[in-house]
Amino acid sequence: MMRQDQRDSKESRHGDKAGSSSDTLPLQCVLTLMLIPLVLAGCSQSIALSSPTPVIAGPAATEIEAQVEIPTPTLAPFRFDLPTPAAAPVSGWRPPLYPVPWAMSSYDHFYFARPIAADQVNWPLADYRYGGIFFAPNIVHTGVDIPAPEGTPIQAAGPGTVVWAGWGLFTEAPDNKDDPYGLAVAIRHDFGFKGQQLYTVYAHMSKVSAVLGQHVETGEPLGLVGSTGETTGPHLHFEVRFPDNSFYNTYNPELWTAPPQGWGVLVGRLMDSEGKTLQQLEVFVRNEETKDQFMVKTYGGGGAVNHDPYYDENLVLGDLPAGLYKVSFRFEQDVQYWMEVLPGQVTYFTYEGENRFTVGPPQAPELDFLPVTATPSPTGTPRP
Ligand SMILES: [Zn+2]
Repeated sequence: MMRQDQRDSKESRHGDKAGSSSDTLPLQCVLTLMLIPLVLAGCSQSIALSSPTPVIAGPAATEIEAQVEIPTPTLAPFRFDLPTPAAAPVSGWRPPLYPVPWAMSSYDHFYFARPIAADQVNWPLADYRYGGIFFAPNIVHTGVDIPAPEGTPIQAAGPGTVVWAGWGLFTEAPDNKDDPYGLAVAIRHDFGFKGQQLYTVYAHMSKVSAVLGQHVETGEPLGLVGSTGETTGPHLHFEVRFPDNSFYNTYNPELWTAPPQGWGVLVGRLMDSEGKTLQQLEVFVRNEETKDQFMVKTYGGGGAVNHDPYYDENLVLGDLPAGLYKVSFRFEQDVQYWMEVLPGQVTYFTYEGENRFTVGPPQAPELDFLPVTATPSPTGTPRP
């Protein structure tokens, strides 16, 4: 568990309703799905250098159900003591989101709207980000949690076909009310990413209104926020998956959902001097103008966590107002570095030990990559 004293005390000053609601939410997702914000649907931007790609029509819904290969889960690992929820990463206010699909470089892919409307908290809980290990070793969060109240409408993050609606997504057992995802919806989207199929997943719902096989548009209602499945409070667990609709094929949703206008996303790959990635390292990110400080942990290292095919990141912090930030952490020594977070795009940096930072896009982009997804391991099987 994270120690409260490591959190930024400044967070408490965010007193607006939205911010304080997330400060006190008792929830947590024992699973790890994720969601995405909704939005100004429809606008395909001419500046979008990276465009969603058409994909081959996916298998029918019934086939989807059959093809997901998931080991027989035991529910015991889902029973944990939950950590104390932390403050929202920034204040409770956001500018309107960029229209989707949004991509200012050929490597960015903010293709999805957020799954909760903009008049509600529609950003992830700070301490329940993708890749986090919150409850026990080998239990990794495969999505983001949005702390919406019970009954809040959940909206499709993009157009597509409903390929799961109801109980049993994780266990592949329809009507299994012990499924850790609870009532859930999965959408196979009408567009893909570099020719690969994209899916989004919405879990812990109190009510599902979407129907298997239904085609939905961005922003269409799928159901209501709830606390079904393995969770201690109402929230939406949201996931982005590709190329298969599998627990082992999730990616960080903060790299797939449109940022607020004028805000950006900080992405990093932190390694030691031998190139080995640093995991569960607490990294502090401070806005030098507002002095707001956020803490985010690095992730990775097998299990169900996957890394973006281009960035190969182990740290993502979304929803940062553009500006100058100080990034600091302790690895072998106190380390700090300043970098400019640019609006509407990823600001990428690497750390390679011994105070060696680079800021800028990764070199040698591989345009024809195929994602390397997690391989289920016979022992220490991760759970959603
Ligand atoms: Zn979750």
